This record gives sequence, structure tokens and C-alpha cells, in this order.
Amino acid sequence: MRTPLKRYILTHEGLTISVKEYRASRSMKLIVHEDCTVTLTCPPRTAKMQAANYILGNVDWIRKAVQRFSNRPRRADRSDIEVSPTDILDLRRKAANYIPQRMQQLAAANGLHFEGVTITTTTSKWGSCNTRGQIRISCFVMILTEELIDLVLLHELAHTLVMNHSPKFHATLNALLPMHNEKALNRQLKQYHITKTK
Ligand SMILES: [Zn+2]
Repeated sequence: MRTPLKRYILTHEGLTISVKEYRASRSMKLIVHEDCTVTLTCPPRTAKMQAANYILGNVDWIRKAVQRFSNRPRRADRSDIEVSPTDILDLRRKAANYIPQRMQQLAAANGLHFEGVTITTTTSKWGSCNTRGQIRISCFVMILTEELIDLVLLHELAHTLVMNHSPKFHATLNALLPMHNEKALNRQLKQYHITKTK
């Protein structure tokens, strides 16, 4: 197909759907690609709410299709997600509503202390923490599953105890994770690649 007239992403409980409006499109259509990325093509001027409802109505189908592909040997072991400036505004708003309070909960539950959290639009890393305990989290964590968001937040909280990435750091982080599965979660996290579009 040609270049979409409009594109944006919608997220739903760990699923990220690229919505693309095409001039020639007559009805909404969901496509799950081999790399487990999901596209919804729709006719021009489809309301965002309408697209979101269509996705909601087909969530089980999407999950099954994604599952089928993820059980298969894949060509590319990564999910490329393109985000537009509007998507970024959206993700920033979601992150501002969710991250500070989730961070506070995780810190309290583990007896940790941090100085504050700032939401960024960095694509090169999920988060960072300085020696004063000030944490920065990329708004793009909002496309991840809740489990992976917690991994990112706990990673930065673990830095309030150990500043580097030494074996001691990984042992600390692993102990903070409910399933003690840092390696497996890091593998999942590495599959996500964010690209900014116009
Ligand atoms: Zn780190």
C-alpha cells in the first residue's frame, strides 16, 4: 500500500498497535505481522475512539495471532515501533499519570528512597539514575507490559543502592523482582525498538 494519510499508535495492556489511515481503505482491518507487530489499517478520517473500540473488540484475536507468531522461529527477533509527535504527547501524559505513583509504590514496598522522577522522551534508554537518587524514565516505557515497566523502574531504584552494573547490582535487582528473573525480562525488553517519525 501507499504512504498512510495519517499514522499513530494505540496501546492496550502490553499490546502496541500501529494505526494507519489509507485513502483507498474501505473498512478497518487488523494485521499481525511475523515480527509480532500489529497494524490496524482504516479508512480516512476514522475517529481514534472508533479505532480503539475496534481493537478492544478484537483483543483476544490479536493476542492469539501474536502468540502463534511468537511460538514460531522468527526472522527478526525484535519489534519496531514507530511513534509520531502526537503519540509522544499521548505517552508522556500516560507516563506522567502512572510512573511517579508506581515508582513510589515500588520504593515503599522495598524500603527504598529516591529523590524524584522526571519523564523524558529519550529513545536510546529506558531510564537513568544519578548519584543524588534523581531518576529519569522514558515515556516510551508505556508501550511495555506492566511487568517490563516494573523491571525498568526497579532497575533504576536498584541504582539507589548500587550505582554501577556490577554483579552486586544485578544480584540486588534480581532480589527486588518478584520472579527473580532479570535475565529473561531483559531479553524481552531488548526486543523493543522505538523510532520517532514525523
Ligand atoms: Zn542501569
